Amino acid sequence: EPSEEDAEEAALKKKLSAYSGVWVFVEQTEGEAAKVSWELLGKGKELAQARKCPLCAVVMGDGVEKLCAQAFGYGAEKVYLMDAPVLRHYRTEAYQKSLCALVEKYKPEVILMGATGLGRDLAGVVATVLATGLTADCTGLSIDDKGNLMQTRPAFGGNIMATIVCDKFRPQMSTVRPHVMPMPDFDPQARGEIVREPVPVAEEQVLVKVLDILMDGGGSKVDIAGAEFIVSGGRGMMAKENFSMLEELAEVLGGVVGASRSAVDAGWMPPDRQVGQTGKTVRPKVYIACGISGAIQHLVGMQDSDVVIAINRDPEAPIFEVASYGLVGDLFKIIPALTTKLRAL
Ligand code: FAD
Repeated sequence: EPSEEDAEEAALKKKLSAYSGVWVFVEQTEGEAAKVSWELLGKGKELAQARKCPLCAVVMGDGVEKLCAQAFGYGAEKVYLMDAPVLRHYRTEAYQKSLCALVEKYKPEVILMGATGLGRDLAGVVATVLATGLTADCTGLSIDDKGNLMQTRPAFGGNIMATIVCDKFRPQMSTVRPHVMPMPDFDPQARGEIVREPVPVAEEQVLVKVLDILMDGGGSKVDIAGAEFIVSGGRGMMAKENFSMLEELAEVLGGVVGASRSAVDAGWMPPDRQVGQTGKTVRPKVYIACGISGAIQHLVGMQDSDVVIAINRDPEAPIFEVASYGLVGDLFKIIPALTTKLRAL
């Protein structure tokens, strides 16, 4: 006779097996998709293959059907499309109700979203309403031998990597920061199925109204996350004025200036330039770290750069462990010399 425990296990298995498919939420603003959504389709494909289930994209917005073709190009087999004026601007209530309705109807086993402002907001509220688990800011995702999603993320201030499994609830939800997963190839020939779903929310039911949209900072904002060359400064720069030296080097390279948290905390650079666990994750072609020791919280944000060049006077600095090239010496001598040399090329 089966024990009570066996019966419980069988009931859990049955509950979980009702869910199938890997979903990627395609974040968009004014019809323009966030790149992280495509990065997640790349990762999602791997997970879907491991689970032998379809990879689907969820596209929500107003007049956003053109994003479906892009989603197919990046690997989705099916797109669930919710297209209506009520979804024109991101509003938590409207998007949450729409996504929850989709999940309840089609029961995906995995949902991935970008760890952007929007993704963090939506994933949190959807996971709460569905009473399931959510792992934020994952840096690694894979499937274990029981078919559960293994979600790896830094924990305890980046001192350990924790692998989290949501083995009793579905869907399994994760957010992943932009630039953590590589961009998949785009296949312009790819086609798939579009499943059009009615939006289950009427404008009168949404309490938040968007009256106006003000763009922050005009066109002058620097996006370090998308830059190919980054020259970053840390506490070793000693003062705000000295960052002009980094601006010059960055200009010669056609890049931008980033910073460690110490430099940001000191007020030498604005917070949107911070690289690392509580800043941005970057993957440039070349990352030049100047006067940065290489604390783990900094490394997690830049160690996937193609080439890392470290300039530090301390030969034992941990930054040299991830550096492709290391220059041990005084940055106040090395950086101007480097800039002069590069300018002469
Ligand atoms: P330091 O560690 O003080 O290093 C300065 C370096 O400059 C030294 O190695 C020194 O040898 C070198 N130096 C000094 N003078 C010269 C010179 N003249 N020439 C050459 N080299 C010189 N940090 C981040 O960067 N990003 C994050 O997102 C982040 N998130 C965090 C989250 C948490 C929860 C915690 C606890 C910490 C976080 N930190 C983060 C902080 C992190 O632990 C480190 O304190 C920080 O990265 C150190 O910054 P730094 O390398 O600029 O300074």
